[in-house]
Amino acid sequence: MSAQGTWPAGGPPLPLASYAASVGEPRGRRVPEPPALPRSEFQRDRDRIVHSGAFRRLEYKTQVFVNHEGDLFRTRLTHTIEVAQIARSIARRLALDEDLVEAIALAHDLGHTPFGHAGQDALNECMSPYGGFEHNLQSLRVVDELEHRYASFDGLNLCFDTREGILKHCTREFAQALGEVGERFLVGSQPSLEAQVANLADEIAYNNHDVDDGLRSGLITLGQLEEVDLFRDHAAAVRVSYPGIPERRMIHETVRRMIDELVGDLLAETGQRIAQLRPGTVADVRTGPPLAAFSEAMRPRLAQLRHFLHANLYRHYRVVRMTAKSTRVISELFGAFIGDDRLLPDEHRRRAEKLGARAVSDYIAGMTDRYAIREHRRLFDFDAT
Ligand code: MG
Repeated sequence: MSAQGTWPAGGPPLPLASYAASVGEPRGRRVPEPPALPRSEFQRDRDRIVHSGAFRRLEYKTQVFVNHEGDLFRTRLTHTIEVAQIARSIARRLALDEDLVEAIALAHDLGHTPFGHAGQDALNECMSPYGGFEHNLQSLRVVDELEHRYASFDGLNLCFDTREGILKHCTREFAQALGEVGERFLVGSQPSLEAQVANLADEIAYNNHDVDDGLRSGLITLGQLEEVDLFRDHAAAVRVSYPGIPERRMIHETVRRMIDELVGDLLAETGQRIAQLRPGTVADVRTGPPLAAFSEAMRPRLAQLRHFLHANLYRHYRVVRMTAKSTRVISELFGAFIGDDRLLPDEHRRRAEKLGARAVSDYIAGMTDRYAIREHRRLFDFDAT
């Protein structure tokens, strides 16, 4: 089908486009299983992700604000749900497989360490003599190996397309060790459109919710945000249409319009590229240039917002203090366990005997914020048990 100009304003899912991942030749699961009927294979993947232990732990992992800083801030879990919502809306409009897009979105941060990016950077630093740590790759390890719930396999035994979508980026070195799912990083091909959409939905979600959380926390102000075109344009329009609107409503209305603009732009640009390149199947999507993208005009607007958040929110001294504490907790945990694996709980010690540092990294990456803090106390504080 031709994508351009044929989208309905809303309504139920369309028949899938010929280039949707589920219409092509599926590459299936690593361990063959009987069909998931009456569910689709990607619905089964999504369901396995929702029922995993790693998914439940997202509730107590930091996005930007550490879990105990306030009840209204995004956590990894609510961030994940927002990504899935945005990704599904886009997928429906592009006649892609919504179940696959949802599965990828729900799994995309399963490998995230406690304490957000600070935790990931600290663990990567600790792991540098042992091959490094990358949360993306860790998300794949979680679904491929670390969940132990099914009788006949380790991991969740997800479909190739879901695993491919989870692995957003990857170094050549890791790609070589990953087999089929790493191949595209060696040959420079694209993942499915569903994966491309999930990836950009992540970007739309965090840039916008970080504005909202940043304002709510008081770490950034409305005055500062005036320098961000994307915010200022919509805020001005809201103020004109609703004079005297209370501030919280104004912020929400503005952020909602920003998300709308980004989603609309992504749909238009992606639709145009699809119309131009006319992929027939998902194989054409994989061998062609990236199809899901923001327009030339949108990219600097988004870059300006990203730059603003880096300079004003992620580097705010209160965030940096939390980062410093998190780094200390992660590196001290790692140092203790790597120095003496008898300190590890039995299950993890047994893995460390076989896998060395990677088992320590798996244990730490799987911790929630508060578990990491408690474990740190148990190791370093005489009064804690
Ligand atoms: Mg994310």
